[in-house]
Amino acid sequence: MKIAIMGGTFNPIHYGHLLSAEEVREGLGYDKILFMPSARPPHKYADAIIPPKHRYQMVLLATAENPHFEVSRMELERAGPSYTIQTLKALQQLYGDTAELAWIIGADSLIEYNVWKDFDEVLASCLMIATTRPNYDLHRVPLAVRNRVTIFQITGVDISATEIRERIRKGLSIRYLVPGAVRAYIYRHGLYR
Ligand code: ATP
Repeated sequence: MKIAIMGGTFNPIHYGHLLSAEEVREGLGYDKILFMPSARPPHKYADAIIPPKHRYQMVLLATAENPHFEVSRMELERAGPSYTIQTLKALQQLYGDTAELAWIIGADSLIEYNVWKDFDEVLASCLMIATTRPNYDLHRVPLAVRNRVTIFQITGVDISATEIRERIRKGLSIRYLVPGAVRAYIYRHGLYR
């Protein structure tokens, strides 16, 4: 079984996440994409992050119609900061030695590879798939690092969760940036206001 993990804060999940996951699944032949919302991202802004239960619910709603997409609560249920290496070890145990694990990381995250804890160990434990993202030039990543990951070209969708949060604050439309069910959830719970 080939499983690719898509980690993120998903604050909120948007079409940029969903399209890149689907393109990786189809293009690289994965059986399953496991969305892994992080509890406390060790290297991200903390203030704008809404409670995990809402981020998790929105990932569930956004992924429900794709039979190849699943959502994991593993990082939400673990105490302490979310470190990828711990998650990978736990998933390998859960799925067994024969499961081939990959971790999908967007260009912006790979550029920040030096803030990742145990980056070498992560690379040794799984295949890292670095997806392209508009406005993030992977040439900023040293060749020595680039050579150790699989760079996968995806359709450029210039959407960020930051932009979505800003649009909500300003009362602007987020239609076509997130799935309808996510948009409805955000309004129903008055999120990001
Ligand atoms: P924020 O704007 O709050 O920083 P984000 O939109 O970058 O959030 P994250 O949840 O931090 O979303 O992203 C999770 C993963 O998805 C990261 O690896 C990121 O690089 C990738 N990603 C996010 N948006 C896109 C996009 N539009 N295209 C390709 N990859 C993306």
